[in-house]
Formats: sequence, C-alpha cells, structure tokens
Amino acid sequence: MTAQLIDGTALSQRLRADIGRRAAALAATGRRPGLAVILVGDDPASAVYVRNKVRACAEHGLHSVLERYPATLSQDELLARIASLNADPAIHGVLVQMPLPVHIDPHAVIAAIDVRKDVDGFSVDAAGELLTGLPGLRPCTPWGCMKLIESTGVPLRGRHAVVIGRSNTVGKPMALLLLQADATITVCHSRTPDLGEHTRRADIVVAAVGRRHTVTADMVKPGAVIIDVGMNRDEQGRLCGDVDFGPVREALGPAGFITPVPGGVGPMTITMLLANTLQAAEAGR
Ligand code: NAP
Repeated sequence: MTAQLIDGTALSQRLRADIGRRAAALAATGRRPGLAVILVGDDPASAVYVRNKVRACAEHGLHSVLERYPATLSQDELLARIASLNADPAIHGVLVQMPLPVHIDPHAVIAAIDVRKDVDGFSVDAAGELLTGLPGLRPCTPWGCMKLIESTGVPLRGRHAVVIGRSNTVGKPMALLLLQADATITVCHSRTPDLGEHTRRADIVVAAVGRRHTVTADMVKPGAVIIDVGMNRDEQGRLCGDVDFGPVREALGPAGFITPVPGGVGPMTITMLLANTLQAAEAGR
C-alpha cells in the first residue's frame, strides 16, 4: 500500500469555486475584486505566467488588468505606474511579474506596492506581518502548501516539520507559516551536511529546492506528509519535483500523504493569488 495522493487540482477547484461565490457577492455590492498584473519585457515564460493569472481572474469573476511594457521601461516609469495602481479603487491587488530587466531594482519595485495590495506577499512589510503574526497577505506558494497540508487532516500542532530551502519567496515564509501553526521547525539548505538525518525525523517535509531527487525513499519516515514544491525537468523534458515520487510514495506507506508534480502545489499558487486579491477586496483595501 502506498501513500495517499494530495490532489492539488481538486483542492484548487474547490477553493476557486468558493472564491468565485465570494467575488460575486462582493461584486453585487459594487466592489468587484480587481488585480493588476504588470509585465515588463518579453520573457516568454513570464508571458505564460501572467496570461494564466489573468485568465484565472476572468474565470472566477475577478476584474483584472494586464499592463505590458517594453524592456526599455525605466524604473521611475514603473514606480509611477505602481503609485497610480496603489491609488486606484478598482484595483485591490498589484503584482509585478519577476524577473525584471537588469536596470530595474526588484526590491525598490516590490517596496513601492502598497502592502494592502501586495497579493504576492513578497514585500518587506508583508514579511514583517507574517513574522510578527499580524494579519496580512501571505506569499501564495507557501500559503497554498499550508492548505494542502490542512486538507490531509493531519494536525500540525507539536509535529516536526522540515522545510528544505530558505528562499524569501518559498522556504522562509513556509517555515514561518508552519511555526505559526505550532509545528516545530527545522530549515535545511545547501549547507546542511546530512539532509536525511533531518527528514527521517520529520512528520511533514516541504521540499522547495529546484533539484530532482533531493528527497529519496531512504530519507522519509512512514506516515509522513510530503509537499513537493520543486519544478524541474527530467531527461525526457517532463515536469517533475524535488521528490523521487514513486519510491517515496511507497516508503511512506498507507498512512502517509504526498503531492504529485504536476497536480500538487502548482495549481494552488494561482488559487492563492485569487484568494489574496479577494481578501484584499473584502478587507476594503
Ligand atoms: P531558490 O530561490 O533557488 O532556493 C532554493 C533553495 O534550495 C535555497 O535555499 C538553497 O539553499 C536550497 N538548496 C539548493 N540545493 C540544495 C541541496 N542540495 N540540499 C538542500 N537545499 C538545497 O528557489 P525557490 O524560488 O525557493 O524555488 C524552489 C523550487 O520551487 C524551484 O524548483 C521552483 O521552480 C519551485 N517553485 C514552484 C512554485 C509552484 O507554484 N509550484 C512556486 C515557486 C517556486 P541555499 O540558500 O543555501 O542556496
């Protein structure tokens, strides 16, 4: 018997249905939630990401604006656009797609977004809210991971969670969210000498590395919950995660849970972006 799958696509659909209902209720009061997405330059992957975000808004009754600018846009021009969106009452979320052209400082850009509209949750202010436990908009991917863990029914209180990866966008906020849920946290990274020593003791493992087979079958405890954030390509060019999925699923046994890639964390990220935009609109932000 193998571990149970955590179906991110199904959970995402359920959450999106609820978002659609709440967005419609808000729209009926004249406050349709609105998201502005800014894309600078012509990176093809970024173009796909922003299209998916805008399409998801349309499908769930949110208003969205996509602003595309050439790579020659100056930083000052971009900051001026953000200031104008910060002041726009029809816009509740502002997202600037990364990466930006090298002449633009991403920190300055993120800092310019009003924290109440920072639906990516990447700003220092949003990070401060998370760190101190204040209400606010949480980074979409780690927040989506929390929803996936919640969906298993496995309680986090008092459990040992290992986060692999310490990026500002995934690993660190993930650790803080787990901490807030009363788990005991270990954060591992590229300088951790023996990853398995930590993951074998973990009730929950979140892998956010970007390297195939970072977590193998000998590194997990039976009955653990494994959340695979990684997005990599195998030799055939197929999307895969950081976890050696088949053997790890087997090693977890029937009491364990695991997210697939694709179909796990991936669909949740845009869902949580919609949720953040809705939350900002509901908060009257
Ligand atoms: P990142 O900024 O490159 O961070 C990767 C982290 O992994 C770093 O903290 C790094 O440690 C650590 N690491 C690297 N090699 C390691 C090793 N051998 N053992 C343990 N830790 C190691 O990446 P990210 O933005 O956090 O993203 C991580 C992965 O998640 C990527 O595959 C990305 O594509 C994916 N992702 C998916 C979604 C989604 O929606 N599904 C969203 C965001 C990201 P150091 O800090 O020591 O360098």
